[in-house]
Amino acid sequence: MTAVLAVAEHRRGELRDVSYELIGAGRGLADDLGGELHLAVIGGQIEEFTRSLSREGVDAIHTVDEGEEFNHDVYTQVTEQLAEELDPDVVLLPNSINGLDYAPAVATRLGRPLVTDVIDADFEDGTLVATREMYGSKVETTIEVDSSRVAVTIRGGEWPGANGNGDTTVEEFDATIDESAVRSTVRGYEEVAGGDVDISDAEVLVSVGRGIEEEENIELIEELADALDATLSASRPIVDNGWLPANRQVGQSGKTVAPDVYIAIGISGAVQHVAGMKGAETIVAINNDPNAPIYDIADYGIVDDLFDVVPALIAEFE
Ligand SMILES: Cc1cc2nc3c(=O)[nH]c(=O)nc-3n(C[C@H](O)[C@H](O)[C@H](O)COP(=O)(O)OP(=O)(O)OC[C@H]3O[C@@H](n4cnc5c(N)ncnc54)[C@H](O)[C@@H]3O)c2cc1C
Repeated sequence: MTAVLAVAEHRRGELRDVSYELIGAGRGLADDLGGELHLAVIGGQIEEFTRSLSREGVDAIHTVDEGEEFNHDVYTQVTEQLAEELDPDVVLLPNSINGLDYAPAVATRLGRPLVTDVIDADFEDGTLVATREMYGSKVETTIEVDSSRVAVTIRGGEWPGANGNGDTTVEEFDATIDESAVRSTVRGYEEVAGGDVDISDAEVLVSVGRGIEEEENIELIEELADALDATLSASRPIVDNGWLPANRQVGQSGKTVAPDVYIAIGISGAVQHVAGMKGAETIVAINNDPNAPIYDIADYGIVDDLFDVVPALIAEFE
């Protein structure tokens, strides 16, 4: 019995971390239901991906050789056909840009309710109980889904990645793609400016917020980042103002980061920002407001004017 069918995600020849998290989440749900966890790998470097995804707890991998990159129509058709064949209780997809692109189409075609951006889920007496955030992450809500067949997208970074090599059965799935319904083609990638930097990989992040006041003052924070050999990131207003590119934004609508050290400078600590950086090992805040919410989660705090503190830190570290 297939309890869960999860679809791996890859981009530009590499599996994304969320693929392993789908295994962690999927295994838990499959155990609750006493059934199997099946994975699908659609397109890309299928053999290599299959080897990497053959982990403990994965019962079967279905490979579908259809294109190098994500394509909405292909993924929708393949996932629908696999789900029809395997009849899983749960179709599990990542809550990524790609996942959100096709999950609603899959759920609609299969006639299943869809719960998105789930941060915790299990089955209690056969009912899916899923947790997600609402009202801009201000509250967590628990949803009980009154259906035996559901579709779920999970938020990245909430489940541990799968470990341990498995002895997974691999089966080629012969999907029938209706080419007339494939309306788009991926012709290549163009990185946005500054796209070479991935803040989610950084060990030390120096993050700047609205307390910096003016675009030209960002240079001061850059100097500190250089002195610490750190990477520069930012809160959303900085990106919204166009002072730094979007790939530097930390938070709910930006990136989730988990550096060893996160230095929040002139950042208040709004829930949407904290959602992206609460996993940092050590959090240092520099803020002149002792009541700023960032101090609720900071390990170290300097309650002072950043324009005094940052130059002093640069002098110290240079
Ligand atoms: C759906 C949604 C998604 C969102 N996604 C994100 C997201 O991904 N990332 C994100 O960051 N935000 C996000 N936001 C916005 C979020 O709610 C906050 O508005 C934002 O995080 C505030 O940024 P900030 O802390 O830089 O600015 P502010 O809240 O204005 O804080 C500035 C801080 O700087 C301090 N300060 C001012 N001057 C100085 C000084 N001279 N020295 C020291 N400290 C000083 C102030 O005391 C204040 O605490 C989202 C909001 C919504 C509704």
